[in-house]
Amino acid sequence: MSWGNSLEDRLGDRVINAFGRRGESEIDTVFLQAQNATVGMTLDTSDVPPQLLKRKAGLNKMILANSNKIKIAPILCMPVSSDLMFQRNLEHGSKNLTGKQIAILGCGTIGSQLCKLLAQNGAGSSGGELVLIDNQNLGTENVGRHWLGPNRIGQSKATACERELVRLFPRANIRGLNANIVDTLKELAELDLVIDATGEEALSVQVNEWLKGVQLRNEKIVGMFAYLYGNAEAGQVLMVDASDHACFRCIKPRQGQPARYEPRRDPNSIEITPAACGQAPFVPYGVAGSVMVAGLASAAALD
Ligand SMILES: [Zn+2]
Repeated sequence: MSWGNSLEDRLGDRVINAFGRRGESEIDTVFLQAQNATVGMTLDTSDVPPQLLKRKAGLNKMILANSNKIKIAPILCMPVSSDLMFQRNLEHGSKNLTGKQIAILGCGTIGSQLCKLLAQNGAGSSGGELVLIDNQNLGTENVGRHWLGPNRIGQSKATACERELVRLFPRANIRGLNANIVDTLKELAELDLVIDATGEEALSVQVNEWLKGVQLRNEKIVGMFAYLYGNAEAGQVLMVDASDHACFRCIKPRQGQPARYEPRRDPNSIEITPAACGQAPFVPYGVAGSVMVAGLASAAALD
């Protein structure tokens, strides 16, 4: 341990003293953390007579008395701090989403892709919370453009997204609610960010009205709407950060009608797949559209 003493006053002695019994635990591995690195060490006592090892109370004294028989095996340490995971890839000045209270309304094709991107940006970590709300189950027809795979068919989209995210980010605080979105809005008024990813215009209008009411009382909450047009020819993300700024109704003044600033060349030419046995008619588009608008929403959330 002379190398330790040469680095810092009595560092080697402090490392030796760190080994041994602490209450119920036997400490046989010690880590040293510095600003630029962390090193670990454990004892290789294979050459020490077993009767010496049994005197656990004085492990540190035993080390000093048998230093020629004990090897110290280094442990390679990999830093896993939330700062390193969530901040290192962001541009200087950008903040990640750790510590924020965030809800995603709708865990369909956009919401499910988005929840993973937000978790990768720190949502749910370091004291934050990520709430996912949807009352539908994953169906076979969803798999082609949903983040979840066929192993989740029949499960609640919200709780299955939660489980999948917790598998990837075990320490994150993520909560999936298999619930009606409108019924849960009253619980979301104190959050930092609420993202409507339902892509259902009628529901977005209700969320918009709720958001405007909340923003009059709570200046902190930011609302966001992420949606696709037609067969995903265009996607948009609208961030509403104050009650007197443009809202969802400003973009789409008449439900079911073209938007005020229509991004499509011909808003009336939508391809619809007709109803089949047991299935409603639907608007076909691939996963790429959902992933792009989810990417746009996650970039906006970092702003
Ligand atoms: Zn408006």
